Amino acid sequence: MAKKKRTPQEASQDQACTGLIESAGEMAVGTCFSRADEIIPCNIGAQGLCCRNCAMGPCRLVGNTEVGVCGATAATVVARNFARSVAVGVAAHSDHGRDLAYTLLAAADGHAPDYGVRDPFKLRQVAGYLGVKTVDRPDEDIAHDVARAVLAEYGKIEGELLYLKRAPAKRQQIWQDLGIATRSIDREVVELLHRTHVGNDQEAEHILDQTMRCALGDGWGGSMMGTDLSDILFGTPAPVVSEANLGVLRDDMVNIIIHGHEPTLSEMI
Ligand code: SF4
Repeated sequence: MAKKKRTPQEASQDQACTGLIESAGEMAVGTCFSRADEIIPCNIGAQGLCCRNCAMGPCRLVGNTEVGVCGATAATVVARNFARSVAVGVAAHSDHGRDLAYTLLAAADGHAPDYGVRDPFKLRQVAGYLGVKTVDRPDEDIAHDVARAVLAEYGKIEGELLYLKRAPAKRQQIWQDLGIATRSIDREVVELLHRTHVGNDQEAEHILDQTMRCALGDGWGGSMMGTDLSDILFGTPAPVVSEANLGVLRDDMVNIIIHGHEPTLSEMI
């Protein structure tokens, strides 16, 4: 059954956005809103019950089909699909943190003259989290060591993420008791993808344990370190009055839109 087409006001609360949706409709130009109204979501996919993690599938666990070719149950397939979504999210967001670390390293070493340390206090605070010495050292030297310490967190060969120590002691103990304290960011992503492949982890709760260990690597690792490095490079945020969103477009001007998903770029333009 076709879905109900939403009005611009039902599609978005944002006035700039509703204006654009109306204009696009008048010009018969497709938008993500119109396409979402036209596409009927797959019921099986929406429940996470379709697995195509190996070439023996895809296996759709519906009707009398209770397990996939490999023996995976519905719980296993749903857990695998959810786990893979988490792995992608952790990889994407944490990789921004890695790029920021490389940017800070390049700035500290004099290879990126347009960038530098804008918040020396934050630099020293972050150095403290990472065990980098700060006494009688210039910003560039500290920044160099901070950047390298952050990069090391992605692929460290032993121990756990240093930033986990920033959590309240009670929370850290919960992670230890559950065995989900993150070891290194890249390792948890790789292990999660490995475990969700055919012939590996078949136990849904076990898969979800690793999913949480991987997610912590982003929330208390890649994304958190990336935020700290952004503050060091671009200044700790404060409220400013600005124009944003589609409402900045002007019909009496040439509008040049530089679109990118990379925070290091968008902070510079
Ligand atoms: S991993 Fe198992 S459930 Fe998934 S496609 Fe392969 S055989 Fe089917």
